[in-house]
Amino acid sequence: MEPRVYNFSPGPAVLPLKVLEEAQRNLVSLPGIGISPLEISHRSAWFEGVLAETEAHLRRLLAVPDNYRVLFLQGGSRLQFYMVPLNLLSGSTRSAEYIVTGTWGKTALQEAVRQGQVRVVYDGKATNFDRLPKPGELKLDPQAAYVHFTSNETIQGVQFAAEPEVGDVPLVCDASSDFLCRPLPIERYGLIYACAQKNAGPAGVTIVVVRDDLLERVPDGLPTMLDYRTYVKEKLMPNTPPVFAIYIVMLVTRWLLEDVGGLDKMLQRNRQKAKLLYDEVDAAPEVYRGHAQPSDRSLMNVTFRLPDDETQARFLSGAQACGLAELKGHRSVGGIRASIYNAMPLEGVELLAGFMREFAQQKR
Ligand SMILES: *Cc1c(COP(=O)(O)O)cnc(C)c1O
Repeated sequence: MEPRVYNFSPGPAVLPLKVLEEAQRNLVSLPGIGISPLEISHRSAWFEGVLAETEAHLRRLLAVPDNYRVLFLQGGSRLQFYMVPLNLLSGSTRSAEYIVTGTWGKTALQEAVRQGQVRVVYDGKATNFDRLPKPGELKLDPQAAYVHFTSNETIQGVQFAAEPEVGDVPLVCDASSDFLCRPLPIERYGLIYACAQKNAGPAGVTIVVVRDDLLERVPDGLPTMLDYRTYVKEKLMPNTPPVFAIYIVMLVTRWLLEDVGGLDKMLQRNRQKAKLLYDEVDAAPEVYRGHAQPSDRSLMNVTFRLPDDETQARFLSGAQACGLAELKGHRSVGGIRASIYNAMPLEGVELLAGFMREFAQQKR
């Protein structure tokens, strides 16, 4: 096999090696069935089992209460930017409130304004999205249809440590890039969505967790496949779901339960990994300039800049030579972005931290 590098890509992103190896063993022929998971019918008993097990894993990992549905959709998180307001705002006299803390929140907002009244209650643009609103800074309407926020802004590397306080207004969260990185108080949410390809699996499936009473607000007459209720009514399968992607999510969530030991343990590991990198950033401020304010730093996407383009190019090529790949930041922030999702092994992060330390010493 071709040797693997440490893949710091923001998404699609690294998957647990154990998951890849199991999928590889079964790729050509599932034991006792003789059909590939890429070929098998979504109506098969095997896939019914996969779907049930994946849902059960998610419910266990996140302690999802019984009055929430777990759905597996397609179209990525960007389709959720449209489906959320279509289902929860269109036809309503209320307005939706958007907390815009980075590029993804801004993109979500652009879809919401097509569906009804929208109010931006926080916009971090003035400081290039390097910080989050402080508790008490948000002035929310208690009558709003919902409040939308992005728990982790993948491009800027800012992450909410706790949910914004919204009272009884349904809280809607784009958790695409930090879903399953820590336990969540699901009962504080109305709806959470996350495309799988950052932290939960491969591209092709998007997980939605939605509280039952929100489904009662959905207006009639929506396009069938854009109405959340269709997926509940049709037992998650109104059409052919992304069988293989869901199979991988099942293996990833099994890994989280059985190998990692749950989301508390995962959070400990994630904190340990992130600290290694932020410590290097803080130790060499003349070389590394962190993008996010320290209090709002992401555990998943570590963003920092180097003094100039030439130094950055040297950093990236030096890292690549050590097997540390996909570290270039997004063009809107520049610099370096190390995405260290659940599946990034500690050794990969230690190697990067060591590389950063040596690189800073050479610069001195
Ligand atoms: C990647 C990402 C998206 C976009 O997801 P797609 O599945 O490509 O549509 C949206 N929001 C956040 C926070 C992301 O990280």
